[in-house]
Amino acid sequence: MTTGLRAGWRDQAWQALVRGPWDLVVIGGGITGAGIARRAAQAGLRTALVEQRDFAWGTSSRSSKLVHGGLRYLAHLQFGVVRDSVAGREALLRVAPGLVEELGFLMPLYRGTSPGRATLTAGLFAYDLLAGRRTHRHLSAREMNRLVPSIQMDGLTGGFRYSDAWTDDARLVLRVLADARAAGAVTLSYARVEGLMRDGSGLVAGIALRDEGPDGGRRTAEIAAQVVVNATGAAADRLRGGIGGEPRIRPLRGSHLFFPTDRFPLAHAVGSAHPADGRPVFAYPWEGVTIVGTTDVDETGDQAVEPRISASETAYLEAWLSETFPSLELSALDAVASMAGVRPVIGTGKADPSAESREHVVWEENGLVTVTGGKLTTFDAIARDALHRIGPRLGGRPSRRGGPLDVVAPIGAPKDSAFEPAALRRLLGRHEREAADAIAAGRPGETAAIEGTRDRWLDIRWAARAEGVVHLEDLLLRRVRLGIQLPEGGAGVLDQIRAIARPELGWDDARWDAEEAAYRHLWATAYAPRPE
Ligand SMILES: Cc1cc2nc3c(=O)[nH]c(=O)nc-3n(C[C@H](O)[C@H](O)[C@H](O)COP(=O)(O)OP(=O)(O)OC[C@H]3O[C@@H](n4cnc5c(N)ncnc54)[C@H](O)[C@@H]3O)c2cc1C
Repeated sequence: MTTGLRAGWRDQAWQALVRGPWDLVVIGGGITGAGIARRAAQAGLRTALVEQRDFAWGTSSRSSKLVHGGLRYLAHLQFGVVRDSVAGREALLRVAPGLVEELGFLMPLYRGTSPGRATLTAGLFAYDLLAGRRTHRHLSAREMNRLVPSIQMDGLTGGFRYSDAWTDDARLVLRVLADARAAGAVTLSYARVEGLMRDGSGLVAGIALRDEGPDGGRRTAEIAAQVVVNATGAAADRLRGGIGGEPRIRPLRGSHLFFPTDRFPLAHAVGSAHPADGRPVFAYPWEGVTIVGTTDVDETGDQAVEPRISASETAYLEAWLSETFPSLELSALDAVASMAGVRPVIGTGKADPSAESREHVVWEENGLVTVTGGKLTTFDAIARDALHRIGPRLGGRPSRRGGPLDVVAPIGAPKDSAFEPAALRRLLGRHEREAADAIAAGRPGETAAIEGTRDRWLDIRWAARAEGVVHLEDLLLRRVRLGIQLPEGGAGVLDQIRAIARPELGWDDARWDAEEAAYRHLWATAYAPRPE
């Protein structure tokens, strides 16, 4: 079965949505909504998912891109999060090679700082115990220096190495959505829920939807569903507010800087306490760049607008860089891009934002099921929990079908193997069922990598043809990630991208010019290292 989104897909999805009927409508096309739609469709429920912007537009493309157990949550005694996260990480490593890959983490130890060696030994022992495999070991200061020559040596007494994993968060969402479609779900982007329908007894019984796509004429529809799930992340209070729910979300912004690897080379992730507040901050290699992050501050901006890094967050990350890698003399001026995302954290009024729990919640209010909080890594545990809770409202369905291990569908390798094993693994991880078609679509020369990234020109062609790109920003910020990997958001390769993508998208020159202008403005105001 094809799970791609080729020309005409939005109209087909709209018609199917209006036709119904639906057991479950999921609002929000981030990892939480995608995970729920996938499990629901696989359990035989008639499932639809709608997203107001692009799939993964929200926090799920703006995370730290780590599939991790959350070592730091042990310090906050959030054992449930760590247990679910480690299980999620291990499952994803097993079934999604090429999309989720192991990454070595180094934690330097400095004289007189905490946590000290004994505490870390205990924490890492517990962490490994949950995973059922030992990954950590102690390193001498000399070993640390050999692995990271630029690391601060003053007071360094040694360190630890352990394993977690990285992913491409937006691609993970796309892959989970493809699984959902393969099981029969209908998914539509640029479709905004403007209100909730209620039945005679006041219970939520559907959604009022508006098509926000450039070709949809802003059409509207009311779509009935037995169960409506609010998976709108940090914006979850908005829909809850419409049915009388009190605000409970504390939106916390986290921002990252992206450096070119020639300016900031790293083979391992390095994490240490920030000199100002002791929060762990990390630098790590990711898809041809080095990421530095993150911050944790209250977000007061409008949730419908792109979040962006503030000057004080930039200064915070720079302070950590000069403390940890002093010889490199790095500043935001060396970075190619920034990216900010907003955590959907349940507020309990703690003074320190980082002390708020990262556990997910499932709330049922007047028939609306809100699922938020949690982490990218734990999306499948969240989905299974949510469906278990919804089950009684759907006549006992879904059953608890599927275990934690089939977290995304494993993919077999296509016969065509012109690629090196590592490149093929990556193509499979990203394009899943469509990998053979994506490879076959590449024209001569398009198997080459786009310089400065791990993407190939054929990734651009395939995304434009079959991955539901509606605006240019969808292509450059989420199908591939050139917008955060190349200087000026990839301005230097936009002409080549235009030559490949414009005909595939069916856009005329005027449409391309308008899209490019909008993308450049967006990049300058939200993704530049120092946004305007
Ligand atoms: C800085 C940062 C770093 C993080 N790092 C990690 C990490 O390394 N590993 C990890 O596991 N987790 C990490 N997390 C947590 C993780 O990213 C989030 O928990 C997860 O992405 C939340 O997914 P979600 O689907 O609930 O929300 P979102 O991804 O925000 O999805 C909600 C979607 O709902 C849509 N929406 C809103 N209103 C409407 C409406 N009215 N109609 C239709 N659609 C609507 C939005 O457009 C949005 O796309 C991080 C979070 C942040 C902020």
